[in-house]
Amino acid sequence: MVKATTKSFEIEIDKGNVYRSLGYGNGRGPSPSMSSLIDEEIEEAYGFIRPSCSYQLMDIKRIRRPRVTLENGITISITSEVLSWVLYPCKQAVIFVSSIGHGLEERVSQLMKEGEILKPTILDAIGSEAAEKTACHFQEMVRELATSNGAEITLRYSPGYCDWDITQQRVLFDVIDSAPMEVSLNKECLMMPRKSLSGIIGLGWGEKRRLRLSPCQFCTKQDCKNRR
Ligand code: SF4
Repeated sequence: MVKATTKSFEIEIDKGNVYRSLGYGNGRGPSPSMSSLIDEEIEEAYGFIRPSCSYQLMDIKRIRRPRVTLENGITISITSEVLSWVLYPCKQAVIFVSSIGHGLEERVSQLMKEGEILKPTILDAIGSEAAEKTACHFQEMVRELATSNGAEITLRYSPGYCDWDITQQRVLFDVIDSAPMEVSLNKECLMMPRKSLSGIIGLGWGEKRRLRLSPCQFCTKQDCKNRR
């Protein structure tokens, strides 16, 4: 694994996660008619979802909190106290962009233009679940490759989370060839299509317990909704 784009994989939509995204939970499920509509939309969504990932393996050259310097042909720096801590025991890191493509979002826009509300809302929730599943699939691929080389991986981190500024998406896009995936950044550093994720996963060969630790255990942001 050095630099590549991968497109030949399938993902499975978890209906329970779609329910939660639509506001169901805590013992309140959808009505039978709503449940069958969600089933129908999940089937329809599979026809529009095209999962893909682009990635680049980088060596970690230096960590001087809060800055992490990575290199592989080119040198980049990311700035985050949390990532400095997470990547400290790592020798390498994978930078990635994953996406489900434009198809589902185009279908949502088309339905909204036709005056529909419910179906595009359901399809949008399915798209969010599909984007998460695509990134999870990639993370598992990295884990398998790391394990076969005697390494352990960290959790996955994305710009805009913890103290990693969203504008650092630009740094990731400097090293990722996102053209085959047709993913781009807008002026606000948001990815288009929206159902895309970018991020970093560290790889280390020692201190395996430490690599698996979540920085949330030590973080003072008690009200953070992204705790894991
Ligand atoms: S609590 Fe929130 S901000 Fe703090 S490390 Fe965890 S996810 Fe990041």
